[in-house]
Amino acid sequence: MIPEFAEAAIDHERRQADWKQSLATTVRDPARLLQHLGFSSDPGLIDAARRAARHFPLRVPMGYIARMQPGDIHDPLLRQVLPLAEELANAPGYRSDPVGDMPAMVKPGLLHKYHGRVLLVTTGACAIHCRYCFRREFPYTQADPKRDDWQSALQYVAADRSINEIILSGGDPLTLTDHSLAKLLGQCGQIPHLQRLRIHSRIPVVLPERVNDSLCDVLSQSSLQIIHVIHSNHAQEIDNSVVRAVARLRANGELVYNQTVLLKGVNDSVAALKSLSETLITIGVQPYYLHLLDQVRGTHHFNVESKTALSLIQELSRSVPGYMLPQLVREQAGKPAKSRFCLDSGCKKTST
Ligand SMILES: *Cc1c(COP(=O)(O)O)cnc(C)c1O
Ligand code: SF4
Repeated sequence: MIPEFAEAAIDHERRQADWKQSLATTVRDPARLLQHLGFSSDPGLIDAARRAARHFPLRVPMGYIARMQPGDIHDPLLRQVLPLAEELANAPGYRSDPVGDMPAMVKPGLLHKYHGRVLLVTTGACAIHCRYCFRREFPYTQADPKRDDWQSALQYVAADRSINEIILSGGDPLTLTDHSLAKLLGQCGQIPHLQRLRIHSRIPVVLPERVNDSLCDVLSQSSLQIIHVIHSNHAQEIDNSVVRAVARLRANGELVYNQTVLLKGVNDSVAALKSLSETLITIGVQPYYLHLLDQVRGTHHFNVESKTALSLIQELSRSVPGYMLPQLVREQAGKPAKSRFCLDSGCKKTST
């Protein structure tokens, strides 16, 4: 190999190693997480966390823990990842598939709910485990589109000319290697009627080092327009490393939106929502959706009633410009689109 190419190859491997290292060293033991934050002397908390983590394991990157306030059990970042005893309580109406993913699955891992768009559950892996996750009980192993190298999913897309956008979701699609992503993007690029590829990922927020040069190269080689929807729920999640990751995606010419889940004890105040919207706009990210919680088992303690949600968003609409206002939506099984709330007086509840 010519020395400069050898150097480039080594550099490439080092950059890959950085984010893979971060992924490999995520914290999985509740005691370690609490210890980092100065709660080592609370056996009750650790015991409850361990019991709840048996159903859905704890996982949190070190870089995300570094953004939490030590000693604050109500820290909005900690609350999103710390398993609590409340998760084990049975709450009526909370199910395993509240949004009707299973009936919309047309091929393993491929959901076709809405006109013109399909959603591919690319992987079950995530860099972080969010306690409120609506895919906590998704059957990733049975519904793995990678098993036949994406073939049956992509054949379905190729056969339906009304589909012009493919959404990569998961799990987190950016936990896939550059090699897998490049292959998948290449195959999507060969489907003539596909125009856009959307990536729904929490990685730019929770493991921003993943957004490195080689990922940007893979994305910029695609013939499709790339749209990112990142998932941030609180302004304190956004530090300089996130700012840099977003700047890289934008420098690549890609659009970046954000979606948020409205979570009790995390962001259920006008102040928190306003601060998040302002921070997002400052770093060049457009607020997109504010989701009501999907009522999946083990998440009821995060629920904000729709009446409260509506008054929060109405008050937010009176204190920020329109471009800072996310659309308050709820996903309802069997509906042809997300259900939007009407904010004006005179109309009732959701529009669909
Ligand atoms: C949310 C969702 C989409 C995307 O909906 P948009 O309104 O376009 O953001 C597409 N497919 C599925 C299955 C979804 O759940
Ligand atoms: S990153 Fe997304 S899919 Fe993964 S646990 Fe969090 S909410 Fe669920």
